[in-house]
Amino acid sequence: MNSAESFSASYSEARAKFVAAVTSAGGQQERIAHPERGPDGGDLTTDVAWFGPRDADRVLVLISGTHGVEGYCGSGAQVDWLKRGEQTRLAKGTAAMLIHAINPYGFAWNRRVTHENVDLNRNWIDFTKPLPKNPAYAELSDAICPDAWTADAQQLSAVTLMGYAQKNGMPALQQAVSGGQYTHPKGIFYGGNGPTWSRRTQSDIFRARLAGASKIAIIDYHTGLGPWGFGEQIVPVPRDSEAFKRAMRWYGSSVTSPSGGTSSSADISGDGLSAAAALLAHAEVTSMALEIGTVEMMQVLLALRADAWLHAHGDVRSPQGQAIKKQMRDAFFGDSDDWKGMVAGQSLLATRQALTGLQRP
Ligand SMILES: [Zn+2]
Repeated sequence: MNSAESFSASYSEARAKFVAAVTSAGGQQERIAHPERGPDGGDLTTDVAWFGPRDADRVLVLISGTHGVEGYCGSGAQVDWLKRGEQTRLAKGTAAMLIHAINPYGFAWNRRVTHENVDLNRNWIDFTKPLPKNPAYAELSDAICPDAWTADAQQLSAVTLMGYAQKNGMPALQQAVSGGQYTHPKGIFYGGNGPTWSRRTQSDIFRARLAGASKIAIIDYHTGLGPWGFGEQIVPVPRDSEAFKRAMRWYGSSVTSPSGGTSSSADISGDGLSAAAALLAHAEVTSMALEIGTVEMMQVLLALRADAWLHAHGDVRSPQGQAIKKQMRDAFFGDSDDWKGMVAGQSLLATRQALTGLQRP
């Protein structure tokens, strides 16, 4: 089969392909309606598919679209998994749950954020406690998200941001910008002021379906960090933890840890995978974000900043708005056969490693 055909050019096409693949594979399906609509006026849903016994002791969970626009990758990997018939390889007492587009708004609108302008992987914090602080973001906020998105404004902010990187180092700039912030609701990597629709929905799905499982493997698909087509396996727990050692036994020694300083990702708080372990405390949870590289980090960052400006100050339907939408899609989706093939291959390997890992005592 041709893996490139598992990928789609829009959210609505991706959803249709997913539903068709689940139907022909004989999976149970649930559709959860989102309150917003897509740019084409179409409805938005998170779709959940289940294969295997409902009371399975071991469950593999594949999540796409945590970061909206990154769903082109995750959806393609999920559809590819189904079309290859991987669901027929499940061992006795083992199930697979595929969550398609947990942030369908971001996917449909080519945004990384939810309709609340929230980065879902900064949203899983306890909002009854004092919020994490990020003074470096506040210091740079006017340069990161200027009120105007003209060539002059971009040039001016580039000078400020590069000046910060020269003084403090590139990792410090990445941490300041992408570490997460809770003070600038129109900015980027904003964690929100309460649980988003996507967080509440994912929590409901986990509670309803995973309460009886004792071993759970989660793979959450991401894009936008690292070399073109390379899948970094990010395990968001400390390197000396039992969960990290287990992930190394399953996936090999190339797994990385943001808190251990070995990942291309900034060390963040409020990500969904870290929260899953607490939410599913009755089970042994082995989580991994498969992060597929696309283009240069500064190119990705530029697209995110343009998109934040567009939705705060601009017009999505204008020529500039449409150009920014394309910029976003290109930053998070390698729309070519070689990239799609690399995603499908590395995803296939990871899902098989996870299913083998789930059978370990
Ligand atoms: Zn992501």
